[in-house]
Amino acid sequence: MPHDGGKHRVVIVGGGFAGLGCAQRLADHDDIGVTLIDRNNYHQFQPLLYQVATSLLAPSDIAHSLREVFADQENVDVKLAEVSAVDPATRTVTTADGATWTGDVVVLAAGSQPNFFGTPGAGENAFPLYSLDDATRLRSRILGLFEAVDRDPTLVQRGALNFVIVGGGPTGVEVAGALADMINVTVPAEYRNLDASTARIHLLDYGDTLLRAFSDKAHGYVAEVLQERGVVLNLGTGVKEVGTGHARLSDGTVLASRCVVWGGGITGAPIAAHSGASPGRGGRIEVEADLTLSGSPGVYVVGDIANIPGPDDKALPQLGSVALQSGKWAADNIVADFQGKPRKDFVYRDKGIMAMIGRGAAIAEVGEHHHEVHGQLAHMAWLGVHAALMTGTRAKIEAVIDWGWDRFSKTGGPHVLDRGEEAQIDWDDDPTATAAIGSSAPTG
Ligand SMILES: Cc1cc2nc3c(=O)[nH]c(=O)nc-3n(C[C@H](O)[C@H](O)[C@H](O)COP(=O)(O)OP(=O)(O)OC[C@H]3O[C@@H](n4cnc5c(N)ncnc54)[C@H](O)[C@@H]3O)c2cc1C
Repeated sequence: MPHDGGKHRVVIVGGGFAGLGCAQRLADHDDIGVTLIDRNNYHQFQPLLYQVATSLLAPSDIAHSLREVFADQENVDVKLAEVSAVDPATRTVTTADGATWTGDVVVLAAGSQPNFFGTPGAGENAFPLYSLDDATRLRSRILGLFEAVDRDPTLVQRGALNFVIVGGGPTGVEVAGALADMINVTVPAEYRNLDASTARIHLLDYGDTLLRAFSDKAHGYVAEVLQERGVVLNLGTGVKEVGTGHARLSDGTVLASRCVVWGGGITGAPIAAHSGASPGRGGRIEVEADLTLSGSPGVYVVGDIANIPGPDDKALPQLGSVALQSGKWAADNIVADFQGKPRKDFVYRDKGIMAMIGRGAAIAEVGEHHHEVHGQLAHMAWLGVHAALMTGTRAKIEAVIDWGWDRFSKTGGPHVLDRGEEAQIDWDDDPTATAAIGSSAPTG
């Protein structure tokens, strides 16, 4: 029975792909009122964070105001708040400032957070890439290092142009490729006193291949493209410790570096541990096939924060497409619930996977049979798919202009150093880095 002024009330935590997909689907139903809570007042398009970090796109290209998205849908109310707890029994959400929101149904769509796997110093000193804030911080650190070397070229000896990227999955590969393009193309055009050939990008992974989800042929292609562009591949190697000025590798090597990028893994968002459920594999919440929390039919858990059963009972991967589809599916089940109809078990439609490696180089496995394409064609497919998925026409147009500009100019996108603190580096603060530079240990 509808209440809350004649409407059923659905409270959604998180305005990422999953939460937004769910809210947009529910917005079509006038008898449902939606409260969408997020700690940010915008939806961020995570697959393009690396392009903000490497100055290809502006932050505004990949962030879209949630209020603007729902400006024409009066039954969706956006609230800016940090959710600190969820009570599945009463379907009540509590925010950090003590406010509470109760719904007939709660949808938990709070995503992931970086997983540093207990690596000493990584949380404090490495640069994760999970939010817009992370991306602008990393962009300022990269630009801050170029500025520092432009002023004082001797800083190269102290590792100022050594970039260490941890993780050979899509995030690590995409950052490595974009950074290589920046160093090979943009930096020589803009920093006249900087010898770009002295820069080193190290891409590390404990495994022996990059982009494991792709085929063996793709593994060879990615490695070849990155090496051609000057990326040093440290496969079979991980990071044991991160300092302010160094990374200690699992083979004992110490690399002097002021920029260690963390693409080493993710775990469920912190709220997973305060949701009344015990987080399972990967710190994520196990859900039933219909996307509800076991024993709590009024609570749905969707997107990255959930272990959603897929074929062969293996959990589905943390992908934008899984998040979007699960959010929409939850909405359909919620509507069915309100109409007294049965819910349906989630079926994921796998339309393929893609990864960008750099200018003119990408891999796409498309269609049900994952037909594989490499190179320019895959690059164009990647641009088309990502532009289509972006929220808001203005963002799509601006991104396409920036991509076109990057393709035909040498200056790339907006090189804005807006986080001044990331350019303030104390070059003497790390004795391990100083010892590594002064000894025979490689500095890159
Ligand atoms: C760098 C990077 C590159 C990626 N590339 C690809 C790709 O190429 N293709 C692909 O398919 N997938 C990619 N992914 C994965 C994809 O982005 C995620 O699977 C997807 O964003 C998950 O959506 P979600 O809605 O579950 O979570 P998110 O998009 O993380 O959204 C969660 C939302 O919840 C909010 N939130 C979290 N906790 C709280 C709280 N306590 N209170 C209030 N609000 C909260 C956050 O602010 C956020 O808006 C990439 C991810 C990253 C990080």
